[in-house]
Amino acid sequence: MSYTVKEIYCSIQLEGFHHGRPAVFLRFTGCNLWSGLERDRDSAICKFCDTDFVGTDGVGGGTFATASELAGRVAEIWNAADTYEAARFVVCTGGEPLLQLNEPLVMALHAEGFEVAVETNGTREPRVEVDWLCVSPKAHAPLVATGGDELKLVYPQAGAEPEKYAELPFTHFYLQPMYGKEVYRNFEAAREYCRQYPRWQLSVQRQKVVGIA
Ligand code: SF4
Repeated sequence: MSYTVKEIYCSIQLEGFHHGRPAVFLRFTGCNLWSGLERDRDSAICKFCDTDFVGTDGVGGGTFATASELAGRVAEIWNAADTYEAARFVVCTGGEPLLQLNEPLVMALHAEGFEVAVETNGTREPRVEVDWLCVSPKAHAPLVATGGDELKLVYPQAGAEPEKYAELPFTHFYLQPMYGKEVYRNFEAAREYCRQYPRWQLSVQRQKVVGIA
């Protein structure tokens, strides 16, 4: 199969467990919870998305005919970035990466020496064996991926209260204040929740604070 990719770039993971770690971000096109078009936002299942995952016109984006071609491009971008970290790390994101990520691609990324992480909305069965599974549940969307390494919940979301997920078999639990005009209020609410329920840790989208991709 071919893969459609919005963008590929090397930066630093600034959210969740791996914050501070250099990574290549492999952003696939498409999501099953929103078309990505503003005209459809009100009728979308997920309404608060602030990511552009439409089309293949981003930096490093395009259509890749094979898994090895795409993995090779990821490796080129890692090499060109000349990061301070030797361990190769790729974060497969979107959109919803599990619409496209498959075993041949994970194998090809492993062959290039990458540790493979996935950030998914949890509505698809993860049929591939990855090294790090981060699930970010969305209200009103069925949660199929009910276990993994990291659960990262955008907060607050009516219908996706943290209590619904706190007993699921994840190793790490993060609350991430919802970005937007209420971000400071959401930050305080998330911090207070984490203070009351220490199972949860605060994850701030530092890339938005410091203004890098
Ligand atoms: S599930 Fe994720 S990528 Fe899809 S619309 Fe929601 S926030 Fe955006």
